[in-house]
Amino acid sequence: MAKYVYFFGGGKAEGKAEMKNILGGKGANLAEMTNLGAPVPPGFTISTKVCAYYNQHNKEYPAELQGQIDKNLAKLEKEMGLKFGDHDDPLLVSVRSGAAISMPGMMDTVLNLGLNDVSVEGLAKRSGDERFAWDAYRRLINMFGDVVLGLEHKHFEHEMDKLKKKQKVKLDTELGANDLKELVAAYKNVIKTRAKMTFPQEPRKQLQLAIDVVFGSWDNPRAVRYRELNRIRGLLGTAVNVQTMVFGNMGESSGTGVCFTRDPATGENYFYGEYLMNAQGEDVVAGIRTPEPLSDLNEEMPKIYDQLDKIRLNLEKHYKDMQDMEFTIQQGRLFILQTRTGKRTAAAAVKMAVDMVNEKLIDKKTAVARIDPYQMEQLLHDRFDPKAEKQIIATGLPASPGAATGKVLFTAEDAEEAVKKDPKAKVVLVRLETSPEDIGGMAAAQGILTARGGMTSHAAVVGRGMGKCCVVGVSALHVDYKAKKFTVAGKTIKQGDWISLDGTAGEVYLGRVPTIPSELSGSLGTILKWADRFRKLNVRANADTPGDAKQALEFNAKGIGLCRTEHMFFAPERIYWVRRMIMSDTEKERRAALKKILPFQRKDFTGIFKVMNGLPVTIRLLDPPLHEFLPHDDDAQLDMAKQMGISVKEVKAKVAALHEFNPMLGLRGCRLGITYPEVTDMQTTAIVEAACNCAKRGIKVLPEIMVPLIGTAAEMNFLRDRIVDVADDVIKKKGVKVKYMVGTMIEIPRAALTADEIAESAEFFSFGTNDLTQMGFGYSRDDVGSFMPGYLQRNILPEDPFQRLDQTGIGQLVQIGIEKGRKTRPGLKVGICGEHGGDPESVGFCHRAGMNYVSCSPFRVPVARLAAAQAALKDKA
Ligand code: ADP
Ligand code: MG
Ligand code: MG
Repeated sequence: MAKYVYFFGGGKAEGKAEMKNILGGKGANLAEMTNLGAPVPPGFTISTKVCAYYNQHNKEYPAELQGQIDKNLAKLEKEMGLKFGDHDDPLLVSVRSGAAISMPGMMDTVLNLGLNDVSVEGLAKRSGDERFAWDAYRRLINMFGDVVLGLEHKHFEHEMDKLKKKQKVKLDTELGANDLKELVAAYKNVIKTRAKMTFPQEPRKQLQLAIDVVFGSWDNPRAVRYRELNRIRGLLGTAVNVQTMVFGNMGESSGTGVCFTRDPATGENYFYGEYLMNAQGEDVVAGIRTPEPLSDLNEEMPKIYDQLDKIRLNLEKHYKDMQDMEFTIQQGRLFILQTRTGKRTAAAAVKMAVDMVNEKLIDKKTAVARIDPYQMEQLLHDRFDPKAEKQIIATGLPASPGAATGKVLFTAEDAEEAVKKDPKAKVVLVRLETSPEDIGGMAAAQGILTARGGMTSHAAVVGRGMGKCCVVGVSALHVDYKAKKFTVAGKTIKQGDWISLDGTAGEVYLGRVPTIPSELSGSLGTILKWADRFRKLNVRANADTPGDAKQALEFNAKGIGLCRTEHMFFAPERIYWVRRMIMSDTEKERRAALKKILPFQRKDFTGIFKVMNGLPVTIRLLDPPLHEFLPHDDDAQLDMAKQMGISVKEVKAKVAALHEFNPMLGLRGCRLGITYPEVTDMQTTAIVEAACNCAKRGIKVLPEIMVPLIGTAAEMNFLRDRIVDVADDVIKKKGVKVKYMVGTMIEIPRAALTADEIAESAEFFSFGTNDLTQMGFGYSRDDVGSFMPGYLQRNILPEDPFQRLDQTGIGQLVQIGIEKGRKTRPGLKVGICGEHGGDPESVGFCHRAGMNYVSCSPFRVPVARLAAAQAALKDKA
């Protein structure tokens, strides 16, 4: 016979902590604590299997269940020496839900079950406290109405308020027994009028209805949505705990509270908590009265405090993690009602993990495995002072985490100008959307806010790359560039007004909200140092400038996995020559313009090599379509024509000529280098000359020249020959020994499928998973905003594949690419340089796929280091 019900009480339990799957977290820990000898009120747990059965069988129960419930209820009555439903001295119980993973506030608890019009008098007599008995009864009717019958709480609250007003009191504790009797009558009336039924007087019926509702609540939309949002999958359902009531509302020597074995906000090792005297259940969290700090209990009831403190130490030692506990004191006697691993802030998580290693409670592997890499990212960015007040005016997509506060400016030039004038100026750049020309202004700003665009829009990608707080897609924002103002939610914000952005929450606030800076020292530094010992994957950074490279080193990156050369093209003194090159009609003209660009590029590469001092640097040759370097609005085109001494007509003609229907699939990447080999020549020359110059000065260099967007082996052969010719020529001329590699990005599905052929001439692979996802799915990543939100909402996609690598589909292309590539070239060096390189789950995939490294934006480097260590530790386990 299947076992559906598990008893706990009398110092022994049938369950244990490891049985969360079938007992739920609450039930498993009640059992575990009972076995540990903690003062847990006895009861029994109905398994999650029953929940699954109930919801799959049209709200019917397995045949054996009723018998098992009866048997356990009888056992409980015997243990307590009381009878459920007795008129003179009733056993009262609570019905509590609890799944394997805690889902706070999703399924509610009913207390004091078993009371009715007759036994409430009995309880009053037995306890000698009439007020208490009627307080318990009114709470039962209220909770039963709320939770079981689904009535709105406000109907009950209304009656309570009316009564308090009538009696001229403020607190519920000031109501006497007769008042509470009146309240019970009023509550019963609420049930009669709102639920069209009388409050059930039969205790067995109360219990059955409560159990039904808890099991049924597993499938309510709120719970389903919560699981979706938190990616909770594969659970059977919730368990139901039926537990003997203890009473915190039995007068002034009774109370109830919540405590944590350490401070969940800071991680400090001291007993933290709150309690309320003469209160029951959720009064503490519900904010009905203001609770007292736990330290006061030490004065009020020192014996109880000591007992609680001992339990705290025992539980933490037993569970080896910070616990969040619930307790009740009934007339000077302590009971523990719940323990679970406590939720904590990122800062507390890191501090506690390191402290617990020092206390020899856990080992380093456990400490590293315990930190949530998604949560840890918060520590790497500025944050708002948690004490600061905020007035939210809009929400958008949380494109790049962090906190920013500054004066509103509407153009990139203004932002750059403002910071040039005053390096301490704080600016928030507000745009409809951003484009590559805005990079300088974006770098100067504290944060970026756009009305349009999705999580992979230009602003979002560049913002994340720079580690710059960024909120995008705030569609409620009406930006008026001409009037230099924007309106949102009926408010007008003018140029120069202060606003603040929360890039982690995607929120916009009015005015200046104070921020606190990030830090990579202390406990976080220690955790990361340990992580580095366990991980197999190397972590590199995507960095385009010597400044980025320095930042990457600070985060302990082991090289640069992607240096995007074109990001250097936008500086004012360079863009002129880039545009000249584009406007050229002949190769000769083009070469002349390229000659002017060469020294700039050489200088940048020299700078990066110097910073990286011996670590590998992967430099990608020119990738984007050329039209991105030309201005598109009339004013800017006129400026350009003037500068170059040509007519606007010529500029417009060029822009028109470069126009493509699908620029992402057009003349870009290696296609540019093959069409205009002189561009490849110039870039190769700049890279290798920089490398030779550094080598001459004794700086170790490891350049890896990377060709983007290869689709066929022939493309790779062509460019490889060209690059090697030019590079070897430079090396010969310079007369120094410099080693370099030539490899490719794998970002076109065909390249992954023919990786064996491509590896003939490519010495390394770097998976460009942004484009690979774009082309593998056939989604234009600049246009997904129009359907992705709907796709996610309808669960057509589990998550945005541009943020988290689609392991089932795109992942196969990666695996095939690695396998085929290494068939041709065993030991082929393989990495990833897409946005996914900084996403913890995707990093785990890269580890399992056998990559050598991941590369991500500098601010994600610590996250990737932690995720890589966790993937390696999981392997071993
Ligand atoms: P949640 O899952 O929302 O935390 P609980 O099942 O823990 O809900 O119940 C909420 C509160 O109700 C508990 O914190 C406790 O104060 C009170 N409670 C539950 N069961 C009992 C009981 N048997 N005796 C006394 N109080 C109880
Ligand atoms: Mg609880
Ligand atoms: Mg690409």
